Amino acid sequence: MAKKQFKAESKQLLDLMINSIYTHREIFLREIISNASDAIDKLHYKSITESDVPVAREDFRITVSVDPEERTVIVTDNGIGMTKEDMDANLGVIAHSGSLDFKKTMEDNPDVDIIGQFGVGFYSSFLVSDKVTVISKAYGQDQAWKWQSEGADGYTIKECEKASHGTEVIMHIKPSDDNEDYDDFLESRTLEDLVKKYSDYVRWPIHMMLEKGAMEETGEVDEEGNPKREWVTHLEDAVVNSMVPIWQRSKDDVSNEDCIKFYREKFRDYEDPVSVIRVNAEGAVSYKAMLFVPKNAPYNFYSRDFEPGLQLYSSGVMIMDKCKDLLPECFRFVRGVVDSPDLSLNISREMLQHDRQLTTIRNNLEKKIKNDLLRLLEEDREKYEEFHKSFGLQLKYGIVEDYGMKADLLKDLLLFHSADQDKLVTLKEYIEAMPEGQEKIYYASAESVARAKQLPQTEQLKAKGYDMLCFIDDVDEFMVRTIRNYDEKEFVDIAGGDLGLETEEEKQELDAKEEESKDILEFIKESLGDKVSSVKVSRKLKTHAVCLSTEGDVSLEMEKYFASIPGAPEGPKAQRVLEINAMHPAFESLKATYEVDRDKAADLARIMYAQAVLIAGMPVDDMLDYSELVFKLF
Ligand code: ADP
Repeated sequence: MAKKQFKAESKQLLDLMINSIYTHREIFLREIISNASDAIDKLHYKSITESDVPVAREDFRITVSVDPEERTVIVTDNGIGMTKEDMDANLGVIAHSGSLDFKKTMEDNPDVDIIGQFGVGFYSSFLVSDKVTVISKAYGQDQAWKWQSEGADGYTIKECEKASHGTEVIMHIKPSDDNEDYDDFLESRTLEDLVKKYSDYVRWPIHMMLEKGAMEETGEVDEEGNPKREWVTHLEDAVVNSMVPIWQRSKDDVSNEDCIKFYREKFRDYEDPVSVIRVNAEGAVSYKAMLFVPKNAPYNFYSRDFEPGLQLYSSGVMIMDKCKDLLPECFRFVRGVVDSPDLSLNISREMLQHDRQLTTIRNNLEKKIKNDLLRLLEEDREKYEEFHKSFGLQLKYGIVEDYGMKADLLKDLLLFHSADQDKLVTLKEYIEAMPEGQEKIYYASAESVARAKQLPQTEQLKAKGYDMLCFIDDVDEFMVRTIRNYDEKEFVDIAGGDLGLETEEEKQELDAKEEESKDILEFIKESLGDKVSSVKVSRKLKTHAVCLSTEGDVSLEMEKYFASIPGAPEGPKAQRVLEINAMHPAFESLKATYEVDRDKAADLARIMYAQAVLIAGMPVDDMLDYSELVFKLF
């Protein structure tokens, strides 16, 4: 009998698929089992919707077996089966509707593991087989049919015998060669692992004959008269899959502890998650989700190696291990699973057209995650702080990314160290604690809380009884520039320009001081050259002699940050302002020196500046020069 040819498109696709380089050959089993499960679904549906279909639900089963001698892996089901016409129509064309899209994607992205992610159904059997035989008998028919193919060059269909309805897929496994090892697929253990990995939640039982061992009595006795025992193995029929996934079970059935146990096993975390989020959504897209907020960041979380994403299931079959499109980027630390029957029929087909459904799910999950974190913040502060310690930085990045698109979503989730209260506070809490008259949110940037608190610029705030937030992450200032204000209160860097907090009286006094010190201030500026953009009488300092502030958009912390990026071109520089406490004896002494010895006054000015630089937590430009200046005073 002449071989029938595959439809043209299918043939090309089959070649492409078999010869493409990828690592996920193992998904063939998932695809074949998934077809078997669908076939049982169809017959089950028929049995409950039609009166004369006497099949019992409990009899439905899928079996996976292996014959190492024959080099075959066999998957059987007692589902709806196929007629000769079904075989011709379904097994003769590859991935009907989606084939063109699929082919195009494969050609455009030869390295992307598309099959591993989506699968192309039945044809994936050729990833591991050099010959595939399908024996099937459609429910209610007398004749069974045998379809056979050795790959791209076509297939045959012949009459054959089969006792009852259902399908048997016999895959003849390719010989191993120097490059590829296929023998592994002839091991029951391997197949069992694959079933557990990809098909654990298929709703029909998947049977396998597995080798079980036990210590058994041999019937003989030893010298002391005790029965002899030995290790005996035998084959046992076992159901390999767990069928009902934990996220499909009702909330009442599954305790929080069960979910946590599931998380620890599935995601291999030795710590409990800080939160479990369960979603059961119905509407435009129906899905169930079980999400977890881990307590600790994985070691590579803040590196490019970290791969975020949720596991995507469709009616019990795992479709993708880390689906990025399901998870809002700002919450990339969340782990978990999403299961949606709405994706099942099409995922292998119009896989490229799924964006809308996935986007709907992602947007819903974004709200759920945010609300859950807010709940945790309110109900269990200690746990929330642990979470924030691991992922607060990620929340801040989330604010800065995409031009602040997620700023509103995230800003209530942030915690900062309050200088006065000496604990972490939210922006809302900071504002609630503000005394009468305070209009702005003050912050100080430094490499640690202790240093931020020591900054001389804090003196004016302290005198006023105003609190400030300590910014100790590089991203903090960028974040503040993105959100700009909170609850209509502006953020103010205490090391930036004047804070405008002095009383009218103080202001007048300082203005007068500035006026009368004009010459000396100019002299200091000249002595420092372009190290500073201006020198002025400070409005912030009370007891300290000097401090360094900035004008314009770039702060000292930002300058430090840009300078710290290895290999980057020279970043923007802050415009430095030397602020001098006009009431300080040091200033008086400088003034007196200025009257009698200009050279020495210039040296003192340079020392003053160096002190301000050191207090700001930076090294002075020229250590030797500075040291010399100081020794000159001896
Ligand atoms: P998909 O399952 O995504 O539709 P496949 O290439 O895996 O694509 O299968 C093509 C078709 O072949 C199926 O839609 C189904 O009609 C038929 N088929 C495959 N396996 C079986 C089976 N075990 N029992 C009955 N029909 C099957």
